[in-house]
Amino acid sequence: MKVYPLYLSGEWVTTESSKPVINPATGDPFAEISMIGRDRVEVALEAAHDAFKSWRKLPGKVRGVYLHRIADNLEQRKDEIAKTITLENGKPLQQSHAEVGLAVDHLHWFAEEAKRAYGRIVPNQVEGKRHLVIKSPMGVVGAISPWNFPLVLAVRKVAPALAAGCTVVLKPATQTPLCAVAFAECVHAAELPKGTFQLVAGPAPEIAAEFLENRLCRKITFTGSTEVGRLLISGAAKSVKPLSLELGGHAPAIVFEDADLNRSVDAAMIAKFRNTGQSCIASNRIYVQRGIYDRFLPAFVERTKALNVGDGLEEGVDIGPLIDEAGLNKALEHIQDAVAQGARLNCGGERITGRKGFFIQPAVLSDVPHDALCMREETFAPIAPISVFDTEEEVINLANDTIYGLSAYVFTTNLDRAFRVMESLESGMISINDGVPSTSQCPFGGVKQSGWGRELGLEGMEAFLETRHVSMGLEI
Ligand code: NAP
Repeated sequence: MKVYPLYLSGEWVTTESSKPVINPATGDPFAEISMIGRDRVEVALEAAHDAFKSWRKLPGKVRGVYLHRIADNLEQRKDEIAKTITLENGKPLQQSHAEVGLAVDHLHWFAEEAKRAYGRIVPNQVEGKRHLVIKSPMGVVGAISPWNFPLVLAVRKVAPALAAGCTVVLKPATQTPLCAVAFAECVHAAELPKGTFQLVAGPAPEIAAEFLENRLCRKITFTGSTEVGRLLISGAAKSVKPLSLELGGHAPAIVFEDADLNRSVDAAMIAKFRNTGQSCIASNRIYVQRGIYDRFLPAFVERTKALNVGDGLEEGVDIGPLIDEAGLNKALEHIQDAVAQGARLNCGGERITGRKGFFIQPAVLSDVPHDALCMREETFAPIAPISVFDTEEEVINLANDTIYGLSAYVFTTNLDRAFRVMESLESGMISINDGVPSTSQCPFGGVKQSGWGRELGLEGMEAFLETRHVSMGLEI
């Protein structure tokens, strides 16, 4: 079986220690990824520190040219890289294509932003002084990314960090490292100076400890679970290491009775089932107002029953496998718990037997009690719990009654209501009559325990810049 290398200081390094990469559609390993320990991550941080000295000095426009080249390389290899994403993550191929497309867009967007790390000149209050506010790259960045959008969520960190003038050591999720290897190949082909971008893999707590404790690493950017986010926060307390955290979510989708039925069903289907429900912004709870409930529920169930489950490489598949056995068991547990608490299972919900891999039939639950597990914890599966509500006030209280605050969806044709509800929801992203909020030029991230900071948009590069004040005494 092919053992994929890491990318360290401009070299491809295959190690003796490696871990299998599993295809979730079969449960079988199809490749291996090299693994290193903390000592070699330390060396990578040193190389990144050396590279930083010259990378930071390049004009933003020149760094942008490198990023455009990486984007072009990804674009040229999009079919093969999309297939790699599907093989290691399981998502339907057309969604992997969309992921590559979004990653390319992020790279081009931050290539342009590299020119715009503006500071400002602040008027002086006393004579003989001048004040500059300047933006400087933070330094070496340790980036940790998850498996659910394995390419684009890594690029969302690497592109703005490089644009800002930082150098990056990326640790992808162990379950999906191969598209990160492909990305590293695109970086290599773009001829970035050695050490500017490096790819590591190994035991996550060890690598994180090195990022946290090594003084050369000036910033950690992490996407993953709130649980691991909390560990990083406590680890960062010792070194006061700056963190950007994109953590878990539990998005409510609220359908008001004045909503356009077809449009809200369409958008709610995407928000729920994209990436087989394994998205941090997946609508984990769907609240439907009583006046539209009897029309929304059957329409949503009908559409769910029509979803085609299968290996993401097969033609016409809407729902792929879950990432692993643990993910599948969690989904089944959430269904059993909801049903035991009085919910009705309208369709799906059973493991697909007779084929290997981690497949579940997409499910719709209705009349789900508010304290069911699926109404509180991330389900990360194609399971849609639907509840009925009566008033705007009631649904806002329900929507906000969670530790999370990443994303929320609102369906209404009433502009006053759209504004009222939008202003009341405790959420970093609010989609109104829209199921896909993510875009390169707007900030992405959560409030409450969904994280700290923002990716994408102007804020995405700001996360890798220090703001510094230069006070000048002048005889003028
Ligand atoms: P996870 O278990 O937290 O893993 C994410 C990354 O953290 C992986 O690279 C993992 O490495 C690493 N990791 C594991 N244990 C660690 C530790 N002790 N210290 C440091 N790093 C550690 O999350 P996941 O299951 O991959 O991803 C799903 C979660 O991510 C969900 O909660 C989802 O909502 C969240 N997410 C959030 C966003 C957002 O933008 N807010 C986007 C996508 C996903 P290994 O793979 O080697 O274990």
